[in-house]
Amino acid sequence: MQSQLEAAVEQAARFTGEGKVAAYIPELAKQDKNRLGASVCLLDGTLLTAGDAHVPFTLQSISKIFSLMVALCDHGQRYVFERVGKEPTGDPFNSIVKLELIKPHKPLNPMINAGAIAVAGMIAGASVEERLARMLRLLRKMTGNPDLSVNEAVYRSEQETANRNRALAYFLKDSGILEGDVEETLDFYFRHCAIETTAAELARLGAVLAADGCDPASGERFIPREVARICKTFMVTCGMYNASGAFAIDVGVPAKSGVAGGIMAAVPNRMGIGVYGPALDDKGNSLAGVKLLETISTEWNLSIF
Ligand code: GLU
Repeated sequence: MQSQLEAAVEQAARFTGEGKVAAYIPELAKQDKNRLGASVCLLDGTLLTAGDAHVPFTLQSISKIFSLMVALCDHGQRYVFERVGKEPTGDPFNSIVKLELIKPHKPLNPMINAGAIAVAGMIAGASVEERLARMLRLLRKMTGNPDLSVNEAVYRSEQETANRNRALAYFLKDSGILEGDVEETLDFYFRHCAIETTAAELARLGAVLAADGCDPASGERFIPREVARICKTFMVTCGMYNASGAFAIDVGVPAKSGVAGGIMAAVPNRMGIGVYGPALDDKGNSLAGVKLLETISTEWNLSIF
């Protein structure tokens, strides 16, 4: 498997030049578009890495899976899904258009920005720091990295430029979906998007989901099986933005991408996969990263369908 992973990275690296690094968060534009790395975590804990698997980058939208986990653990399904839906949108991740069209104005799912901001508002904690500390605690346990933390420069860069997310959040406040202080919720959202990780850590996180919420090696349970099941289902239906349908056909595994170039995939009962390739396609997914996943999914027969 190690040599196949290395070959897949080498082969997909040809495509990095065809993508573009996200620039709407200025700090992300500084990433090297030629980077590509991948990692696989098997359910006995074995970790394989190839290419830039240890280069740090920020979770961005991948963090939406983990805020959803915490919200579901804090409040249960009924409360969460009264405020955010379960349907894919077919629209870009930051789209505003359906929020006003659909009544009540609840976001269609927790993977688009509007839905993730609504979820951020549900995380229990007396302050932004406490809410963030709760999420970091979970992620540190799952990755086994006690130093996992926020990249301050990326956080500030988004905080200073996020007019569109502010618009979404204030609309949700006006509609009664978002409770509490809007700026605090946005601050928490920007911070959890800016949590720094690596492809190797994403593979471990994916492996926890692949193992239904348990540490794949020790068996320690981090989240209820039911919460893991809901997260993996959202990864299939909405994890790759408005390319989730094509990805389900071409790769066929639950996965979540972020605009910094990360993709976390969870192959049920088999493995977690982490990918980093900051050059994105026009939907916001790592262009070479998706190619790489197509290759290994075919070679290892990973599609769940
Ligand atoms: N922090 C980013 C935003 O809200 C996350 C987007 C993403 O990765 O899709 O725009």
